[in-house]
Amino acid sequence: MDSIKENCGIAGIFRNDRAAEILFLSLFSLQHRGQESAGIIAGKDNYKFYGGKGLVSEVFTPEIIKNLVGNYGIGHVRYSTTGSTSPKNIQPFLIEYRGEIFAIAHNGNITNSRLLRKKLESQGSIFQTTMDSEIILHLFVRSRGSSIREKLANALKNLKGAFSILFFSKDVIVAARDPNGFRPLCIGRLGNSFIVASETCAFDLVGAKYLRDVEPGEMVILSDSGIESYIWAENTKKAHCIFEFIYFARPDSYIFTKSVYLTRKNLGKNLAKESNLTGDIVIPVPDSGSIAAIGFSQEKKIPFELGVIRNHYVGRTFIQPVQKMREKGVRIKLNPVVSVVKNREIVVIEDSIVRGTTCRNRIKSLRDAGAKRIFLGITCPPIIFPCYYGIDFPSKDELIANRMTIAEIREFLGLDGLHYLSLEGMLDAMMLPARDFCTACFTGKYPVKPDFAFNKFQWEKKNGCDS
Ligand code: SF4
Repeated sequence: MDSIKENCGIAGIFRNDRAAEILFLSLFSLQHRGQESAGIIAGKDNYKFYGGKGLVSEVFTPEIIKNLVGNYGIGHVRYSTTGSTSPKNIQPFLIEYRGEIFAIAHNGNITNSRLLRKKLESQGSIFQTTMDSEIILHLFVRSRGSSIREKLANALKNLKGAFSILFFSKDVIVAARDPNGFRPLCIGRLGNSFIVASETCAFDLVGAKYLRDVEPGEMVILSDSGIESYIWAENTKKAHCIFEFIYFARPDSYIFTKSVYLTRKNLGKNLAKESNLTGDIVIPVPDSGSIAAIGFSQEKKIPFELGVIRNHYVGRTFIQPVQKMREKGVRIKLNPVVSVVKNREIVVIEDSIVRGTTCRNRIKSLRDAGAKRIFLGITCPPIIFPCYYGIDFPSKDELIANRMTIAEIREFLGLDGLHYLSLEGMLDAMMLPARDFCTACFTGKYPVKPDFAFNKFQWEKKNGCDS
């Protein structure tokens, strides 16, 4: 994987005296979903918020956690896909309205945000941030309804695109998902408390039990009355982001009710079944290619070796904004094991190729370490189209598979062989029906058409696709 920005991670807990501590641990385990900033709001009779730029462990000290007094709250880790990296954009985002506090933590990308913002501004709304998430709170305070449930449902009905959200108000937390369920959101139980998080790995760390997912188009209300479910969307059609399984989610998580580990292993097995890649050893690009490489190795009966070692003390490559820095960063982060790869024919397993520059450096470093022949297996089809649902792929022109044929990519990367898993092979690896997934970045078939305030002609011209 080279230089894809991830989306965000969210967590919430209701009625637990250790609310801030549990949220801290939950966000810590969701750190892979966003490393730019972290924030927690906790409430009891009043509310306390703290957020900052950096990793969860850098933002929160034991003293800060202790001061976040409360028995319910929500938290967020962020990698911006919309809005700038300004500290103002740290979530949860909160507003005070008629003496009450409302806060929101959002994972996803609202595709009609520009139009909504323009409309709200023309009606007098004053925005404090550049985030699409702020729109939800503006819509909420303007919405009709006599309860939080009604007001929030009416607000959400204006939105298009991807949104898994946690909403915080006095003595209530609401978890809701868009009608397509693009991003994951799971509910768990911790003693007498309920916990909600993007992925179940957050539950494991605090000892909570996974109960179920918040369904697409569902709203789950946690209050002193217990847990209440409400379907707010009139039409739902699942379009889970398949990239969550390929790359984003942690392998020890369940998302969309299925094990990420087992799905990733299936991807490797299917790659082995449909490709003629072979060699003396199979090596993963750690960590994202590791589990698929095990599946590939077992299916092909080729020994699995760790031919590249990752330095875990280097930030993710895409944190570095400049291409040159990113390339240097890759060499610092991953180092080939000469004793494993020298004079060997190797099959390298990687989850995806985006720009191709990072991948090219990795192949070169394996060649420099003495690998005789290098074959590369990718556990998804070529990425040709941008994502509008919360994953920050580079522009269409920067995507290598959009500019080059597979033969040209193989040559550019300096490979002896290259195989991308087919769309069918990828979907077959999922333990859910193919119709439940969004695959737009591979196919150009967008489940929800983005509304960028440009006309249909411009949209089709920009993407060269149907939608
Ligand atoms: Fe996921 Fe790709 Fe769909 Fe974006 S376009 S939601 S990355 S599958």
